[in-house]
Amino acid sequence: MSRKNSMQKNVVIIGGEGKLARLFNRELSKLGMSVFSLDKNDWHKADELFAQADAVIVAVPIHLTLDVIARCHQLPVECILADLTSIKSSPLRAMLDIHSGPVLGLHPMFGPDVSDFSHQTIAVCDGREPDKTLWFKQLLKNTGAELYTISASEHDESMTFIQALRHFSTFAYGVHLQQEQADLSSLIKLSSPIYRLELAMVGRLFAQDPELYADIIFSSKSNISMIKRYHQRLGELISLLENKDKAGFINQFSDVGDWFGDDAQRFLKESSAMLDSTQKS
Ligand code: NAD
Repeated sequence: MSRKNSMQKNVVIIGGEGKLARLFNRELSKLGMSVFSLDKNDWHKADELFAQADAVIVAVPIHLTLDVIARCHQLPVECILADLTSIKSSPLRAMLDIHSGPVLGLHPMFGPDVSDFSHQTIAVCDGREPDKTLWFKQLLKNTGAELYTISASEHDESMTFIQALRHFSTFAYGVHLQQEQADLSSLIKLSSPIYRLELAMVGRLFAQDPELYADIIFSSKSNISMIKRYHQRLGELISLLENKDKAGFINQFSDVGDWFGDDAQRFLKESSAMLDSTQKS
C-alpha cells in the first residue's frame, strides 16, 4: 500500500469480501480511492494496511462487529474509524473507546442489490472530530448518496419501527402464507400491480440473509417490546371483528387517516406514480 496524491486516500474495509463491502469498494474506487479488503483470513496484513489507512470501515456481520472493532486499536491518529452496521449506538461507543481519532457511524439505508448510490440515503452519526471526517462525507455525497445526520440513539429508535417491526411483520406474514399453504402462483396471477408489489416486498425478504435480519430484530430489548405491543394491538383489533363492530373499525380507520394527515394523500399519489413508472419501464 502506498500513499499517492492528497486526494487519493487509502480506505480499508474490514469484512471487505462481504456484500455491502464490495458495493462500497466499487463506488469508492470509481472516485479514485485506493480500497483494500481485510476479510477474516487477512488479519496478518492488518498492521501494514492500518499503518497507511486514511479511513478504516467495519462491515462485518452485526454479531461480530464489537469484537472486530476491538481489534482496531492501532490506527494512525488522523485515520477515520467508521462502520456500516445497521444498529448504531453500541458500535459507535466501541469505536470511540478503541480509537482516539475521528470516528463516524454510518448506516446505508439500502441493501447490496442497488445499482449505485444515486438518491440512496446513508444515515450518519458523528462520533468524534466531525471536521476531520468532512472529506469522507464529501466522498459519499460524490457517489450520489444523500446523507442524513442523526444521533445514534435517535437512529436506533427509528430503526425499531423502520426495520425491526417492519421486518418482523413481513417475516410473520411469510410464515403465515407458508403454513396456510397459500397457492403462491394463483396469488401472483390474481395480483394487480399494487398487490404484486406488496407480495414482492414480502418475498424479497426471504431471498436475503436470515442472519442479518435476525441480528437486526434481536439487537435490542426495545425491538422485542415494540413487537409485543404490536401483537397486543393486533389482538385488540381482532376483537373489533369478533364483536362485528364495523362502526368501531371505521372510526379507528378514520382516526389513523387523520393522524397521517396530508401525508396520507401524498403517499397515495407517490405510490401511484411509482407504480405507473414501473409499468412504463
Ligand atoms: P456479509 O455477511 O455479506 O459480509 C460480511 C463479511 O465479513 C464477510 O465477507 C465475512 O467473511 C467477513 N468477516 C466475518 N468475520 C470477520 C472478521 N473477524 N474479520 C474480518 N472480516 C470478517 O454481510 P453484509 O450483508 O455485507 O453486512 C455487513 C454489515 O453491513 C452489517 O453490519 C450489516 O448490519 C450492515 N448492513 C447490511 C445491509 C444489507 O442489506 N446487507 C444493509 C445495511 C447495512
